[in-house]
Amino acid sequence: MSDPRPQARSLAGIASYHAHVYFDGPAQREIAAWIRERIGERFPVQLGRWHDKLVGPHSRPMYQIAFDVAVFPKLVPWLMLNRQGLAVLVHPNTDSPYDDHLIHALWLGEMLPLDDSVLPRKLKAGEDLIDPVKVNTAPKMEG
Ligand code: ZN
Repeated sequence: MSDPRPQARSLAGIASYHAHVYFDGPAQREIAAWIRERIGERFPVQLGRWHDKLVGPHSRPMYQIAFDVAVFPKLVPWLMLNRQGLAVLVHPNTDSPYDDHLIHALWLGEMLPLDDSVLPRKLKAGEDLIDPVKVNTAPKMEG
């Protein structure tokens, strides 16, 4: 008899994480810049471009922070303490962008709508939407 309960998924399925820091208007953009600068000083992450126009599934301007699994236990609590009211989406990168954003995500603060029509359910074999994290910061201090 087969066990009808779902199999637990392995952490090995998580290649890396993203945090998306959202901002709405000039005052929040300044806070987002303050957060970005301090993260660059403290954590080995890949800071993505500013997106003042909406991109992908996102419904508010934002920038992305890509980081390795080992950085999660420092960066995410730091964001909890320092986000100053901004909405932040933290999601794993697995082989399903759809699940990563809509099912397995963690929100700090406000939960924003996402456009699910642009999120593939499964990456095709050989398709590499999960870019390796290319650290572009030079941390000089502890979190
Ligand atoms: Zn992302």
